[in-house]
Amino acid sequence: MRVVVVGKGGREHALAQKIKESNLLSELWVCPGNPGMAKAGINCAPVETAEAIEAFCLENNVSLVVIGPEALILSDLKARLEMQGIPCFAPTKNVAQLESSKLFCKNILHDADVPTAKVLVTHAIDEAMAAIEAHNFASPLVLKADGLAAGKGVWVCENKAQALEGLTNLTTQFGFPLLIEECLIGKELSAFALCDGKDFVILGTACDYKRITPDLFSANTGGMGAFSPCDFITQEDTETIHQIFVKTLNCLHEKNLSYQGFLFAGLMKTAKGLYVLEYNVRMGDPETQALVPRIQSDLLELISAATKHELAGKQCKLSEEVSVHVVAVSKGYPEAKMLLGAELNLPQTLNTQLYFAGVSEKDQKLVNSGGRVLGVTALASSKETARTQAYDDIQKIAYEGMYFRKDIGQ
Ligand code: ATP
Repeated sequence: MRVVVVGKGGREHALAQKIKESNLLSELWVCPGNPGMAKAGINCAPVETAEAIEAFCLENNVSLVVIGPEALILSDLKARLEMQGIPCFAPTKNVAQLESSKLFCKNILHDADVPTAKVLVTHAIDEAMAAIEAHNFASPLVLKADGLAAGKGVWVCENKAQALEGLTNLTTQFGFPLLIEECLIGKELSAFALCDGKDFVILGTACDYKRITPDLFSANTGGMGAFSPCDFITQEDTETIHQIFVKTLNCLHEKNLSYQGFLFAGLMKTAKGLYVLEYNVRMGDPETQALVPRIQSDLLELISAATKHELAGKQCKLSEEVSVHVVAVSKGYPEAKMLLGAELNLPQTLNTQLYFAGVSEKDQKLVNSGGRVLGVTALASSKETARTQAYDDIQKIAYEGMYFRKDIGQ
């Protein structure tokens, strides 16, 4: 197969690396890719826009496209490619509303009878103020903008003053509808499925670290690390996760919104069981870099089967090993002002899997060019050993201003 992986982050690096292992593969391109991905496939910078990717696929007789980032899933790329008869593994724009509209997602969860936080959907300031006034703050209140907000659309408010500030902030930036949710208390995890429009296979679970430091109130990031599998769920929880995907996908199917692509459930394990916080219509970054190296099945075969609606009866085999993935970022991240352009010093060999993200080539040297720069994934028989290996290796890498959390997998 002649395959294109679209994207340039650590997630796409991990996907491309795994796809490269497939016996079905004859040629792999990464659009636009990054210098690390060049070891998995041919880098095609500057092929980055939907239009350029379509032209590239036609010119190169591409037989399958896998889209990583949500921005391109929400673009017209899939429609363009399928108009040209090129299979594209991603959900349609219509069903991708599962991520781009929290209200759409809530309605599906409700119709599918999947547990989720109770919600009040408000359309005007008076209505939202009244809901805040009526809450006693014995538990926090969660305020959410409806659309995509790059991590800035959710406020978990401990008291009335915070809720009023959140209300002003969110409605000024994003307008209405505004969702006001009960706060679920528990532990968060992510579960991933690969879907063919009707059937699906579970890929596995992971837990990520969102904050820049271990301090719960420090800044939110794209993700500072992850481990896989999630180690606090029971066999019963695993069955519940399966049922959550079954119910959601059946509900979408009944509404003529068949879902094909990776599906990512953000879950909260509470004292009353598992609740869905949100769905994302793609793999997570950095959860992919922790989960995908554990996949022992042929990922390309599964993806290809999904594009032909042939997943029924298939399974994804995972290694019993535990993985820990640690991300290194640029100085200043997640603020806009960062120290970029520093040369990376990489050792000749590493014992872990190295994934690039914000890395570019300048004057034949590798330099950091984004917030999240790179990450390493270690696989071992225990999380503690994987943690030790990941930290041993990341400390062999250096660039000016390099920062990583020290507690991933703890
Ligand atoms: P954005 O729209 O800003 O990109 P997002 O899609 O990441 O945000 P969510 O995943 O729904 O938004 O929420 C972000 C985080 O807020 C969750 O990971 C969780 O920690 C917290 N959160 C969201 N909803 C609830 C809830 N009902 N109870 C407790 N915590 C919640």
